[in-house]
Amino acid sequence: MITASPTTKRKQVLILGAGFGGLSAANLLRKGLTQEECQITVIDKSKYFMMGLVNLWILKGTRRLDASQTALDVLENKGISFLNNEITRLDLPNSTITTATKTRNNKLVYDYLIIALGAELAPEQINGFKENESCFNVYDAQRVPYLREKILTLKRGRIAICIADIPYKCPPAPYEISLLISDILTKNGTRDSIDLEIYIPTPISLPVAGANISQDVVSLLDDKHIKFHPQHKLKRVLENKTLEFENGNKINYDLLIVVPPHRAPEVIRDSELLVDSNKQGWISVDRFTLRTIKYKNVFAIGDVTEIRLDGAITVPKAGIFAEGEAKIVSEQIINEITNNTNNNRIAKFDGKGFCFMEIGDKTAGYIDADLYNEAGPTIRLDSPSKKLYQMKLEFERSRMKEWLS
Ligand SMILES: Cc1cc2nc3c(=O)[nH]c(=O)nc-3n(C[C@H](O)[C@H](O)[C@H](O)COP(=O)(O)OP(=O)(O)OC[C@H]3O[C@@H](n4cnc5c(N)ncnc54)[C@H](O)[C@@H]3O)c2cc1C
Repeated sequence: MITASPTTKRKQVLILGAGFGGLSAANLLRKGLTQEECQITVIDKSKYFMMGLVNLWILKGTRRLDASQTALDVLENKGISFLNNEITRLDLPNSTITTATKTRNNKLVYDYLIIALGAELAPEQINGFKENESCFNVYDAQRVPYLREKILTLKRGRIAICIADIPYKCPPAPYEISLLISDILTKNGTRDSIDLEIYIPTPISLPVAGANISQDVVSLLDDKHIKFHPQHKLKRVLENKTLEFENGNKINYDLLIVVPPHRAPEVIRDSELLVDSNKQGWISVDRFTLRTIKYKNVFAIGDVTEIRLDGAITVPKAGIFAEGEAKIVSEQIINEITNNTNNNRIAKFDGKGFCFMEIGDKTAGYIDADLYNEAGPTIRLDSPSKKLYQMKLEFERSRMKEWLS
């Protein structure tokens, strides 16, 4: 256990990654600690932040990519240092990280490290997949405006939506994408001449949510005549717009939309932090404190972690969990730096989260999750409504205001 020294020395907190988890942690820490107590530095290779769910609104045409990216250097106005650089090395025994720029200042020392580097997309791991005018990685925000154009110009044929592997960010998102595409095609007058099909590697649509909720999701797809194909793990993309699955099935497509495989960012794969010693997988953390196993002043939150719940089921990769974990990590660091022993409540992540599942026509359902429930994870799906859709819009608006206004 780290014993926090009083405010004689200004502590250095480094936050790696200015995404959902990193921004949430930086803002909470800045609110809880004075400049004299702590310097907070956030490092990201990107200059901008955009929430993942905005991809859906760009696809629908209600938002533009260029109007949705917020500059990260506004953090400086809040007393949070922002460094736009790539992190290339973690030297955890010496509490130092290295960035790509070859200057004398490319090594940073920390008292506390929060790793919030998210998940990297790896479309190149799909055999035969090449981005072109018929093949799209729908999780790449830069490609989504072109995908929308392509959907609008397609007159007939088959759109295949394919989840290449698990885990992937936001488990309901591919279903939201297929429902929104169905809406776009209906408004475009082409729905009746285009088949919309979704192929997934697992036996049910949302393994973390269990069989009942998974069936509810399939019913939503059925209502919009979207064909659902479980147990279809993509083997390769062949010439002549053909997909081959590991179960031997082959299908033709006119437009292929993939959710690509995800993996930990390279700097993490090169570190000693992975669950799997074969340099596969994600960072293992204490499920309540989010501390890494070996280094008590090093925390990891969000998509870069793996927290096992039950068998193969893990905490889903979703911003709401990154945010919940950021709160717990910030609380622990604030208590340690301020030497606050009066706070009897021990900060513990509770595994709770929620999300709004968009189903088209400005309507959304609500998924509520209690993953650490002692009797086993419980997940509830509330019926879609227009009000829930408005709450989804507010979900993004409120966080952007809080983190980057
Ligand atoms: C289409 C879609 C819809 C979604 N909908 C929802 C939703 O409704 N609700 C929800 O909760 N979640 C949703 N998500 C998931 C959510 O976006 C992610 O789970 C969330 O962003 C994870 O937060 P994070 O902080 O772990 O990582 P991220 O937000 O991905 O941030 C990681 C940051 O690290 C940076 N980085 C990585 N490697 C390096 C490096 N070597 N050097 C410097 N910087 C680096 C990246 O540039 C990035 O900014 C959705 C995602 C998608 C794609």
